[in-house]
Amino acid sequence: MGDPLKPMPWLVGRLEDSWLETRTARTIVLDVPGWPGHDAGQHVDVRLTAEDGYTAQRTYSVASAPEPDRLVLTVQLVGEGEVSPYLVETMRTGDELEVRGPIGGWFRWSEDLPEPVLLVAGGSGVVPLMAMLRQRERAGVETDFHLVYSARTPDHVFYTNELHALAQRSPGIRVDRLYSRGGLPDDARPPGRLRAADLPAVGATSVPPRVYVCGPSGFVETAAAILIEKGHDSGAIRTERFGPSS
Ligand SMILES: Cc1cc2nc3c(=O)[nH]c(=O)nc-3n(C[C@H](O)[C@H](O)[C@H](O)COP(=O)(O)OP(=O)(O)OC[C@H]3O[C@@H](n4cnc5c(N)ncnc54)[C@H](O)[C@@H]3O)c2cc1C
Repeated sequence: MGDPLKPMPWLVGRLEDSWLETRTARTIVLDVPGWPGHDAGQHVDVRLTAEDGYTAQRTYSVASAPEPDRLVLTVQLVGEGEVSPYLVETMRTGDELEVRGPIGGWFRWSEDLPEPVLLVAGGSGVVPLMAMLRQRERAGVETDFHLVYSARTPDHVFYTNELHALAQRSPGIRVDRLYSRGGLPDDARPPGRLRAADLPAVGATSVPPRVYVCGPSGFVETAAAILIEKGHDSGAIRTERFGPSS
């Protein structure tokens, strides 16, 4: 996956396709000639350049399973943001941007890892975890995956149909959705932020799982603290924070 000592080149990505995941989040499919592929969980830098030469750069996780020359990202609109409004609302098919990557050595999953996997997502933190689920599916392995996905309301859930289909056809995949602001009328769990009862203890699987937690900083801190309280080894918990860019 490239020489770590060589600077990563910027590659041109052209918008090939896109669709809305929710009213404020869009999936974009980029054709990126020369893209070397990535591991599920990794991210990329995206750079936009204005006509006057001004550039803005942000980081986005890859939502797709690894493949050459193609990248799928899902971007949540951040009000007053510089880059996300362009990616969600303005960019049109055929428009170009630049990408650099893949980046990230720790927050990765591949099918040769045998342990069960616990995924904990807050909001758009589900994006790199979806790449892991997609990679599991593509590789045809039966590794147990349990996704605990916290979103504001059902209208804020990404990949609704695909997650439902994955859990239906694959007995090894379990998906639990939690809502922080408002749920469905027959939900047993009242809406609210992540709490201890939402996450499994370390003994829930025969072998302790590898754990991946991704979301806003506060969510990640809460989830990690609960998991450690519930017996998970801190070394088995991998975290990624989608904080504001500096
Ligand atoms: C490793 C990594 C992976 C990421 N992957 C994704 C991804 O897959 N999808 C995705 O939508 N985003 C992702 N992000 C967040 C993304 O990099 C940007 O921060 C986000 O899109 C906002 O950029 P912006 O230019 O629109 O806003 P900015 O112009 O950077 O910020 C505008 C205002 O919004 C606040 N703000 C910025 N970012 C956030 C945020 N994430 N949450 C709340 N408030 C914010 C800022 O403090 C500022 O007040 C990731 C971040 C990291 C570090």
